[in-house]
Amino acid sequence: MISLEDYQSIIGKRNIKQIKSLARLYRGKKIIMVNSTKDGGGVAEMLHRLVPLLNELGINCRWEVINGNNGFFNITKNIHNALQGKRIKFSNEDLEKFIRVNKENAKSINLDADMVIIHDPQPLPLVDFYPKNKTKWVWRCHIDMSRPDLSLWKFLRKYLMEYNASIFSIAKFSKILPHPQYLIAPSIDPLSGKNRELSSKEIEGVLKTFNIVRDKPIILQVSRFDSFKDPIGVIKAFRIVRKEINCRLILAGGLASDDPEGEMVLEEVKKEARGDPDIHILLLESKSDIKINALQRVADVVLQKSLKEGFGLTVTEAMWKEKPVIGGEVGGITIQLHNHRTGFLVNSIEGAAYRIRYLLNRPSVSYKIGNQAKKFVSQNFLITRHLRDYLALFYILGNPGKDIIYIGKSKKNFGS
Ligand code: UDP
Repeated sequence: MISLEDYQSIIGKRNIKQIKSLARLYRGKKIIMVNSTKDGGGVAEMLHRLVPLLNELGINCRWEVINGNNGFFNITKNIHNALQGKRIKFSNEDLEKFIRVNKENAKSINLDADMVIIHDPQPLPLVDFYPKNKTKWVWRCHIDMSRPDLSLWKFLRKYLMEYNASIFSIAKFSKILPHPQYLIAPSIDPLSGKNRELSSKEIEGVLKTFNIVRDKPIILQVSRFDSFKDPIGVIKAFRIVRKEINCRLILAGGLASDDPEGEMVLEEVKKEARGDPDIHILLLESKSDIKINALQRVADVVLQKSLKEGFGLTVTEAMWKEKPVIGGEVGGITIQLHNHRTGFLVNSIEGAAYRIRYLLNRPSVSYKIGNQAKKFVSQNFLITRHLRDYLALFYILGNPGKDIIYIGKSKKNFGS
């Protein structure tokens, strides 16, 4: 079991002390996180790490997952897609079902707490089915809300009016809402199986499992099979590059239980790959942390060619491993990759192909960018920073009007 003290070697004693002092201000309070899947995707990834750490810090934090059948998750996936800008028409029955399933969940999930944090739109309407008491309700939006479908947004906004605050990953996603909005960037856990150092034996073991030979440069994208991650665009970019440079492509990803579209996208990807022996399509099971870690470590270039992206933890994970990352210029990827400094942003298949070639032909540039990328992640996107942001938020929401937090004995300003 990883404990907060274990992060000291990465972030230093002073930062650990700050986190503990902040946590003291909210110790003994009860927080409940709610989302729609235990496995698959970035939200589950983060909750698996944040919830135990909050408990270790003396905050009583529980994680609940709403239930629903395939019909429900088809609707919520469409809601997710429409909020990310896809044109989708919702029937009244769909929207009624979306609300009804939330109402049924409310009967079995006890959300009596000081604060309830609802992740993403799937459980958003739950707020309507609980008594209005002391509980603070916070909506934590992880998706790319730069251009949501407006009629759907209007519908969901009714429920959001009942919340006390919202959290977005980047400023561009914020909306006009009648409550305070906070910006909290997601994070990775440097000590998890997905991000810790691996021995060469562990890495070779993974490559053997997947029959991957390291005889030529490896280009990698790790993602759920989702059209917003543009796996077809990745294959097309790879084909352009391969005309000049002999290389391999690995597309690795799994299916999330709240994403019924995954299998269809996977089939499209297989069709596009046309049995090409240099294109490895790896369907990962839910507990594939070491495998993903190893694949990211052997890659020469990592892609995240998303067309929409709330944040893109896969980008952060690869940057942490000092890889040069090329990402779509969308959503949260734009606060991680800064051209020629921490990675590259692209807007087309040709652009992606150009940057892959550029990096494969310049190992010293790849090395320098990878180096800077790791530093940038360690300063901005580690779980300890995330924990500190949450703790500050708990305090601020629990103490309206107090926007300066004094911690420890010195009463020094902790920061604004
Ligand atoms: N991931 C995983 N298995 C997979 C695909 C992705 O464990 O088959 C992980 C990935 O390593 C990352 C997270 O799930 O930690 C995906 O987060 P991201 O923000 O990149 O995308 P999301 O899936 O949330 O849209």
